[in-house]
Amino acid sequence: SVQVGVLSLQGDVREHVAALEALGCAVRRVRRPHELEGLDGLVLPGGESTAISHLARTFGLLDPLRVAVASGLPIFGTCAGMVLLADRLVDAKEGQEGIGGLDVTVRRNGFGRQSDSFETDLRVAGLDSPVRGVFIRAPWVVDVGSEVEVLAVLEGDAAHAGEEGGRIVAVRQGVLMATSFHPEVGGDLRLHRSFLDLVRAA
Ligand code: GLN
Repeated sequence: SVQVGVLSLQGDVREHVAALEALGCAVRRVRRPHELEGLDGLVLPGGESTAISHLARTFGLLDPLRVAVASGLPIFGTCAGMVLLADRLVDAKEGQEGIGGLDVTVRRNGFGRQSDSFETDLRVAGLDSPVRGVFIRAPWVVDVGSEVEVLAVLEGDAAHAGEEGGRIVAVRQGVLMATSFHPEVGGDLRLHRSFLDLVRAA
């Protein structure tokens, strides 16, 4: 079986661990650089990206995480994890450091404040029925590079998109996947399964 790490500095670590274990993965909580060794994949949970990156810096993990991305480790980032994977940020906190790797621009807190959190059904490329998207102070993807596949676009009132019509909320670039929402909440394991397909193929 594959061994997948969950970055366990802050955020909804438990939910990701439960989802991965339900799919039969061996899961390792990652807090120290050496805990990245030998992993087949890594999940960056939702939470607060500024707190996670601050702790990653403190624990000496920021550069090892960048090296892991560069070495081709499959990584799945949800919400704050998407913010961390983005090469470019809009509305970042001053001095906020990311990991990068995903050729996208992400607007942090794009959908507004905690009180603007919401749930909605979303069509996701490759899945035959909608996913229940849980958005909590969620980022959205402003633009994507040519290697990035858009997996889901949020449309309608919840998108706050005006003339633009929709907001990109799930992407994949090679072995990197990211969602604005929280597939680890609510028991729908299909996006984790898609990620594990990437891990196994890598
Ligand atoms: N807004 C948060 C951030 O920028 C993300 C929120 C979440 O992960 N639910 O980190």
